[in-house]
Amino acid sequence: MPAADAVRDDDAAGRVYTVLVIGAGFSGIGAAIRLRERGIDDFVVLERGDEVGGTWRDNVYPGVACDVPSLLYSYSFEPRTWSKLYADGAEIQDYILDVVEKRDVRRFVRFGHDVSALRFGDDDGIWRVTTNQGVFRARNVIASYGPLANPALPPIDGLEDFGGEVVHAARWNPDQDLTGKTVAVIGTGSTAVQLIPHLVRQAAKVVVYQRTAGWVLPRYNVDTPPAIARVFAALPILRRLTRSALFRITELSALGLVWNTVLTSVLSLAGKIFLRSQVTDPWLRRLLTPDFRPGCKRMLVSDDYLRALQADNCQLVTWPIARIGESGVMTCEGVEHRADVIICATGYEVTKTSPPIEITGRGGRSLNEEWARGAFAYKSVNVSGYPNLFFTFGPNAGPGHTSALVYMEAQIDYAVELISVMTNRRLTWLDVDPRAQAEFNSELQERLAGTTWNSGGCRSWYLTEDGFNATMYPGFATTFRKMLADIDLHDYVASGDLELAITGRVGGDTMDGRTTDGVDPR
Ligand code: NAP
Repeated sequence: MPAADAVRDDDAAGRVYTVLVIGAGFSGIGAAIRLRERGIDDFVVLERGDEVGGTWRDNVYPGVACDVPSLLYSYSFEPRTWSKLYADGAEIQDYILDVVEKRDVRRFVRFGHDVSALRFGDDDGIWRVTTNQGVFRARNVIASYGPLANPALPPIDGLEDFGGEVVHAARWNPDQDLTGKTVAVIGTGSTAVQLIPHLVRQAAKVVVYQRTAGWVLPRYNVDTPPAIARVFAALPILRRLTRSALFRITELSALGLVWNTVLTSVLSLAGKIFLRSQVTDPWLRRLLTPDFRPGCKRMLVSDDYLRALQADNCQLVTWPIARIGESGVMTCEGVEHRADVIICATGYEVTKTSPPIEITGRGGRSLNEEWARGAFAYKSVNVSGYPNLFFTFGPNAGPGHTSALVYMEAQIDYAVELISVMTNRRLTWLDVDPRAQAEFNSELQERLAGTTWNSGGCRSWYLTEDGFNATMYPGFATTFRKMLADIDLHDYVASGDLELAITGRVGGDTMDGRTTDGVDPR
């Protein structure tokens, strides 16, 4: 019987995996690699798509690329010499495919498995994972479904009545032919600034609907000179040092992007100088000048976006959209702009409130209900009441200034370490003490209040409707990494033989089992 079929039979017979990973994007694959490195082979990765890669598999719109230097936007344990400073999406997807083959993790991935629910068993400490292909069981779950996996169409009246095609940029059809067409683009965020320069070259006319002007800085994307590629191949240590130098530079930029400092004024001046150098018309410059502090929304980096907006076949519309009709977009001053295709570069259903799947923890508690007004966790990885459930890209683990993969790797390492601790000490489960979680979050939210995201004068996808910041980490990546490298078991409660098993910081004192009642975990 082929191995895959054998696994299927095991699942039907109630096989309990040590670990089940949801999603085979950057973080799910990273988790699989780290688990294997720790000698944990009894795991499965469930992926709803038909290939690995997550957002880099799905995003194939023209111009898709990394907006942080690629040397940083790659696993620390799988360095690569990239063709450019900021690699294209296709090159990033190739990298993920290469890593999957090299690390032999494809055989752990089950494609076409869409997870809809997780339920913790109070009696046996096992997670039941409901998918479109049946129920899986696992002692530990690593939720790597990604914060930007589900595209969001804008809730604009009449969108469904539009007679032409409505496309979300994150679900681009590579065969889409825009020649001779009038294209409406809604949104001017990170995706739009990459896409619009390409649309202007393809379509007859491009009308860009801007709700809020963002800060744009040049990307200075350059090809990696062949000589540098040769040096990196001969002396990999130099590539590591370059990565480390880039990391330090981006860390410094946090000083201007996360907090309001003199560097924020420098960034704002740099943005204005770049705008002036690119846009000659003062009225257009005025329309493109942001009214919030740099960093409040994600910084946009592009060498050609501002020029593309001034192309003869491009029009910037800043009147709010009133509705969409059968033949185009109506703005609130009463003008109807005809369109053949509407492209929504309007972002994602970000998991800042309820998770995208139903999660039921100890005693039947519901994470969807607990997170309804804003997600929270302990150190971004665990949530009290949901033992042995680990998040990558969990709540408050987003950076505004450097590579998200740095944070993701720290979360993966934390999860794998705790899973090893449980396996080695024969614990059924570990759960965060709600008091530790409440303390963590009260300090975190206090620190967030002083950041540009919370007080920089904008509304971004980082915040919930009522202004709760459930997405960003208020500090340097170095601090985040340090926080997750320090596992304090005193902050957990456990099942099993505490005397035998539990120590404080891994290798420290004996922990007491604490009650978990009556504490607001937020
Ligand atoms: P985004 O940055 O959230 O931008 C969405 C745009 O759509 C904004 O301009 C927003 O306007 C506009 N919009 C949303 N709803 C609208 C509505 N109802 N009416 C009019 N305009 C509306 O989304 P994104 O560009 O897809 O980027 C999302 C995130 O993905 C980024 O922040 C980044 O983290 C990531 N990303 C990364 C890369 C990369 O290279 N690594 C590339 C692309 C994206 P407002 O500003 O007024 O809300």
